Amino acid sequence: MFTSILMYVIQIPLNTHMLSIPSVPEWSLTFQDPPAKISQRKKFREERTLLRACGLYRTKHPDVSWGLSETVDLITTAMIQYHTFSPDAPLVNVGDLSLERGGKFPPHLSHRAGRDVDVGYVHRGDNADKPRFTYATSNNFDVEKSWSLVKAFLETESVEYIFIDYYLQKKMYRHALKSGENKEEIDSIFQYPRGKFSKQGIIRYSRGHRNHFHVRFKRTL
Ligand SMILES: [Zn+2]
Repeated sequence: MFTSILMYVIQIPLNTHMLSIPSVPEWSLTFQDPPAKISQRKKFREERTLLRACGLYRTKHPDVSWGLSETVDLITTAMIQYHTFSPDAPLVNVGDLSLERGGKFPPHLSHRAGRDVDVGYVHRGDNADKPRFTYATSNNFDVEKSWSLVKAFLETESVEYIFIDYYLQKKMYRHALKSGENKEEIDSIFQYPRGKFSKQGIIRYSRGHRNHFHVRFKRTL
């Protein structure tokens, strides 16, 4: 496995500098996609690519792992970065991206145009390395590795939002500060501790994100 990771590391340049602070647009309180644009649907139809499992992560539902090619590249880059941070980490569980044809994908509110992906948290003990999303508790949640995974996505500098349960935000926020991250940067990234309905931060509360987090990548069009 390490050999395959190294191969990826050699082939794909990594962004190794500290966290940057992407701007957060104000278009959505419900986190549904903004009004659809033909160009987004067209872009998806023309560029869709299937995220394929590899030695860094597994895909829970391979038939609904369609994303924009840039999304697939960014997920791969984040996974390589994560395994560089945590070489002994278990495989990451990747959940739904989009349907092959795009469009509505119940029960998701978004996941329509290849810019969204669900990712499992990292767990300790018996719950590590299981091929499913696991409800995170104070006993099984691996805060250090989960924060590394979230941070790897943030460091792509292409993330618009990451939806994370508020209690887990608190765990990661405290861990990040304890491990020496810059407080100003962390405060700009996390919604916590401003309350789960605050509109600040890239990391936001949204119901149903206690067993996985949801990454929405920025539009490039
Ligand atoms: Zn999702």
